[in-house]
Amino acid sequence: MPKKSILKSVTQFQTALSDWYRQHHRKLPWRETACPYQIWVSEVMLQQTQVKTVLRYYHPFLAAFPDVGHLARTDTQAVLKAWEGLGYYARARNFHRAAQIVCDRHNGLVPSNPADFQKLPGVGDYIAAAVQSIVFNRPLAVADGNVKRVLARLNQMPNPVNQASSYRHFKAIATQLLDTTQPGQFNQAMMELGATVCRPQKPDCDNCPVQSFCQVFENNRVDKYPRRTPSKPIPEYHIAVGVVSHNGRLLITRRADHGLLGGLWEFPGGKVCKHETAENACIREIREEVNLEVKILSYITQVKHAYTHFKIVMDVFHCLYLSGKVKLNSPVDYKWITSDEISNYPFPKANHKFIRRIFIPLLTF
Ligand code: SF4
Repeated sequence: MPKKSILKSVTQFQTALSDWYRQHHRKLPWRETACPYQIWVSEVMLQQTQVKTVLRYYHPFLAAFPDVGHLARTDTQAVLKAWEGLGYYARARNFHRAAQIVCDRHNGLVPSNPADFQKLPGVGDYIAAAVQSIVFNRPLAVADGNVKRVLARLNQMPNPVNQASSYRHFKAIATQLLDTTQPGQFNQAMMELGATVCRPQKPDCDNCPVQSFCQVFENNRVDKYPRRTPSKPIPEYHIAVGVVSHNGRLLITRRADHGLLGGLWEFPGGKVCKHETAENACIREIREEVNLEVKILSYITQVKHAYTHFKIVMDVFHCLYLSGKVKLNSPVDYKWITSDEISNYPFPKANHKFIRRIFIPLLTF
């Protein structure tokens, strides 16, 4: 057994964690502000995304949308453009909608009542606890991936961290440990500990401020925790995409506003069927999606990209428009654009991987 049981020494644990956090926390821009909107922006971005990535997006986003009113009044496409490359685009769409509701129903003020805040689109348990504790000092414990890993190790918990049914166990323990006199700082300290010391690989136990409370350290079982249920193999899909040119312009289509990559623009294409060549799939998909007949002119490149639950291998072709009038089936909008206009539209990362290879010569067809 560890020298001190964490749940029997809550105050000592809180003090050790708090002292360490005050001295060692990283200076991050969202920790330098008390603005509810700015902190909310950071927490939406930080969901599923590493700090170093968020740092590239945070200031430009605030420069484009300095307050909730600016965000609410802007067009969804401009929000998606500012979010381009950050992934999980439902976050941006929900945040934009939430800003509009805050302006319509809450006089442009971020609700300080957790129940009202949690009714906003995209505000789940994590965002609610993080924003409400940091901004409004509400005693709500965060149990994100970093916190669950720390708790699993401190308490040598058998509950798999990647199983939804485990969440309530982690949340209950996080709530028991929460320092209700400074819940925002406590939550940030737990997350910081997980991100910088109790890391997924090679935790830095020698420099851990709560080592004396840690059961897995005491029992020499650090490398066995947290427990995870084995993940299913990630499927890989073969995709064919066509860059269709006509009269010096390229065809792009917009995905429906909901679902994966909702609202983003892309070049038309889709899955290659069994026993089908990528070239034939490209021609077929363009016919099915936009009702155009095209012929393949050349092969551009192959792109590989991994999403959370699947991977794609994408063959990209340069196609020449032959005939037909665009009729949309699945996409919700389309444009014939010049190469100069590409940067006006938000595209998924996988498309960006080949966009740089679409040279001006393509546009002469
Ligand atoms: Fe994590 Fe090691 Fe600290 Fe335990 S002692 S909480 S395993 S860093």
